Amino acid sequence: MTERLLITNGLVIDPARKLEAVRDVLIVGGKIKEVAAGLSKKKAVLGTTTIDAKGLWVVPGLVDMHVHLREPGREGDETIATGTMAAARGGVTTVLAMANTEPVTDNPSQLAFLRAKAEADALVAVLFAGSVSVGQKGERLTEFAKLRAAGAAALSDDGRPVMDAGLMRRALEYAKDLGLLVIDHCEDLTLSAGGCLDEGPDSLRKGVKGSPWAAETVHVARDIALAELTGARVHLAHLSAAASVEAVRAAKKKGVPVSAEACPHHFALTSAMVPGDDGNWKMNPPLRREDDRAALLEGLADGTIDAISTDHAPHGCGAKSQGLDLAPFGVIGLETSLAVVLTELFHKKILTRRQVVERMSSAPAALLGLKDRGTLAPGARADLALVDPDAAWTPQAPYLSLSRNTPFSARRLKGRVVKTLSAGRVVHAL
Ligand SMILES: [Zn+2]
Repeated sequence: MTERLLITNGLVIDPARKLEAVRDVLIVGGKIKEVAAGLSKKKAVLGTTTIDAKGLWVVPGLVDMHVHLREPGREGDETIATGTMAAARGGVTTVLAMANTEPVTDNPSQLAFLRAKAEADALVAVLFAGSVSVGQKGERLTEFAKLRAAGAAALSDDGRPVMDAGLMRRALEYAKDLGLLVIDHCEDLTLSAGGCLDEGPDSLRKGVKGSPWAAETVHVARDIALAELTGARVHLAHLSAAASVEAVRAAKKKGVPVSAEACPHHFALTSAMVPGDDGNWKMNPPLRREDDRAALLEGLADGTIDAISTDHAPHGCGAKSQGLDLAPFGVIGLETSLAVVLTELFHKKILTRRQVVERMSSAPAALLGLKDRGTLAPGARADLALVDPDAAWTPQAPYLSLSRNTPFSARRLKGRVVKTLSAGRVVHAL
């Protein structure tokens, strides 16, 4: 018999269908069958498992379009198995894994290998980006059509920017023909020059090398010009600077096909908050100033920034304990992203609950062209998160991620994922 699951009495929030009301959700065979009031009386036939969601939000599973799973090459820091366990704990049911693995995911056979590995190991859905350039060297384009045929869900050299504007132009043109999204890590390397904190009073005070906001905005402006020139959509990863948000807002007003994401650490933290020489507060782009943070909040509220992603970037303790100058860039985020968003955006009235679900689920699903998720419409994958928006908790190591490099450890958060379902299967329960 096909498995039946009924989630009763939760506040269903489904922006794609403009639904925000107490409903029951019936799941049959891993898909959403029906969302309606009073289903519990009619549909609780023998063999139906019931989950009581009274007092909880029931939302489409989160889609995180920016995750580093470190497999292959750095399985000591994260694997597909552990990264997706961390995702499940955070209510994330689809991740897009970036291509800066070792070796780089730049060819169809590695993609096929990774997809088979995910099929066997992953607790939630994993999609893979193929790299834009061979070996992420920024010299020659990969074979986009072959990558797409092998299942690439997007193209990105993330970890590195595509510095060569001519190469980026051709990438956008080819990707447009194939209907693939190009995601760019915006950083002019000649300006950032290895800086590890926002260039300004905080980098000076700590005596570490700074990276100016312009390193990002120069590249953002270039990508916007190329999107306008080619008519191809470009997606800008992890915006951190006020001027970048302003540039995207102006471009959207003009009708340029550009979209953008922001990460919890950038809109919750600033460079002034970095404690001592703690490498767990180092990421790329770096934390910036209060003005920048305010601009990200404004961009998230008015839709200039389409999506919230984590840029989950695991690194081992040894590497991260070397201090700000020497530690590698990146922080983990899958287990805390929704909680930070609820704490900083929902409870502080920057976003409504519906906007939270839009930025973290329906919008990224739409950007990646995923029609079967990001919504609880009948027929969609039964990917759901059950959320207690008011539960207070304090993240601390050990995490389900193999790594523990997060600036949110020991920070009091309000809002927690109680249960996560992936294709109708409970993959996380408190
Ligand atoms: Zn990046």
